[in-house]
Amino acid sequence: MFSTLSQRIDKAVKNLKGKGRITEINVATTVKEIRRALVDADVNYKVAKQVTDEIKEEALGRKVLINVEPGQLLVKIVHEKLTALMGGEEEEINIEGDPAVVLMSGLQGSGKTTFSGKLANFINKKRNKKVLLVACDVYRPAAINQLQVVGEQIGVEVYAEPENKNPVSISQNAIKYAKENNHKVVIVDTAGRLAVDEEMMKEIEDVKNAIKPSETLFVVDSMTGQDAVNTAKTFNERINFDGVVLTKLDGDTRGGAALSIRAVVNKPIKFTGTGEKMDAINVFRPEGMAGRILD
Ligand code: GDP
Repeated sequence: MFSTLSQRIDKAVKNLKGKGRITEINVATTVKEIRRALVDADVNYKVAKQVTDEIKEEALGRKVLINVEPGQLLVKIVHEKLTALMGGEEEEINIEGDPAVVLMSGLQGSGKTTFSGKLANFINKKRNKKVLLVACDVYRPAAINQLQVVGEQIGVEVYAEPENKNPVSISQNAIKYAKENNHKVVIVDTAGRLAVDEEMMKEIEDVKNAIKPSETLFVVDSMTGQDAVNTAKTFNERINFDGVVLTKLDGDTRGGAALSIRAVVNKPIKFTGTGEKMDAINVFRPEGMAGRILD
């Protein structure tokens, strides 16, 4: 059985001599174990090293209270550190505007279309705003159909132009349509490719420059581990997104990608996806994710 990070920290501390106190020597051994456990949870090695160096400093600076086990204290410090590294607080998305435009980006299969539907449903129900979904994947006819199925499921209108092969003009026309029909939020679902390529990056860049979204979200599959960080970096360099959506957290991933992405691109994670159903959307809570990485 795979021990949790908390159990591993506790065990590392218990195996030490002079376990009543956090000292330079026992903290060094424990910190190594924490680093290994973070890497096992998909945290990028450089990020794990930086986190554990900071944890070490902090642990040495703290006094162990008589009735607190050093292991528990270290777990608490690690929890606080992970929470702070992921931004500490929940992050809002900007849906002010007339209409507000949300642009979705990410690789094919990351969960963009599913999440576009979830977000539309969330805004429609929780924020009481009329939403328009826009199908901008001009390469796969099935993609338009998929978005239409999603739209029907949640009762949100879908804008599509099956004959138009230009995503810039489709998204511009959709915004015009939204204004005329009193939609307050427009969610633009774009095409994804299986890997990052120049044509795809140029296309999403062009769409972004043309429609000037109030919010650009980058959707990434949490199961892709270290690759998630590299993809996030490439997308961020090209389109400077505002926030990240981490999907498929209902799988058995520990979610270390959340920590790495935040540390590497310095953009907040705003939502998570935890299933294929339209209500499987959660506002990202750094504290909850720190708990998941630890447990
Ligand atoms: P896109 O190509 O980026 O638009 O990705 P899709 O939205 O088509 O999603 C790809 C696959 O992942 C589909 O089978 C979805 O049902 C599935 N999917 C999307 N989000 C989640 C999630 O949060 N959890 C799980 N388990 N599956 C998801």
